[in-house]
Amino acid sequence: MATGKVRISLDFECGWGVATGGQWRANQTAGIYRDLRPALKRFTRQLDDLEFSFTWAAVGAMIDEPENRDFSHLRGQYARDVGEFLAEAEEPTVDGRDLLDMINGMRTSQQFGTHTYSHLLFSDPEQGAEVVAIDMALATETNRALGLDCTRLVFPRNHFGHFDIVGGAGITHARMPPRNAPDPTNRPGALRRAWSLSFRPVSPVWEEKTPSGLTLHYASEFLNWGVSGGAVKRHLHQRRISRALARAADGADVHFWLHPFNLAQTPSLMGFMESFLRQVAQYRDRGLISVTGF
Ligand SMILES: [Zn+2]
Repeated sequence: MATGKVRISLDFECGWGVATGGQWRANQTAGIYRDLRPALKRFTRQLDDLEFSFTWAAVGAMIDEPENRDFSHLRGQYARDVGEFLAEAEEPTVDGRDLLDMINGMRTSQQFGTHTYSHLLFSDPEQGAEVVAIDMALATETNRALGLDCTRLVFPRNHFGHFDIVGGAGITHARMPPRNAPDPTNRPGALRRAWSLSFRPVSPVWEEKTPSGLTLHYASEFLNWGVSGGAVKRHLHQRRISRALARAADGADVHFWLHPFNLAQTPSLMGFMESFLRQVAQYRDRGLISVTGF
């Protein structure tokens, strides 16, 4: 009987993750959202071959019908950023309904969650409780209308908060940063990041319930090393991922996360993921781990 566990959740977004800050422009020019389509096809084919079912936490606006999209609840700079994004970005940068069709068309049925409706940062001081409540209501309505489960939340950029509102929207589990990770709202310097990658122990899943009954699920290891990552950074990340997987094979419950668009963005990530997933399948087939979503 397997005691270890590998979970994978996917922060499922197109340009929404960088609607603020305008990084989508450079990504779009580089063809990342266009290339995401064949990359996701290749990735999902492997998931089907290995019979893996993971959790896709989708940005609601990306999978909603364009005529339903409503952002009148957003305030301040983020409202302006989203307005500009919708007015100027190309369709594959904004709309992921074809990507959702790809996931729904897989032989191995997948699991779903939400990444909020508008990729709202819960730490944004211009938004506040009322905005968060509307965004979460739109997110759960969108999933429900599409027949997708919506009890799991992945906070955009792990900027967590407003737990009562989250629970009130019907969410039972929210993904949190690893328990020993630095505060995600503080951007650590390069040296600190390298130190953390090399020496911070892998943190297996640890869950805690809020007084209102929401389960806070502390995880997870990032399956990427960044576009600008040199050989050293790539090596540190890959070593960390291998170490985390070895912990799972040794009986720990380890949660990994991935941005599908990184498969089209980070050189050699696709090949790395393919060998990583083959290794995960081998451990499962040897009875060392079970494999699931979040
Ligand atoms: Zn995101």
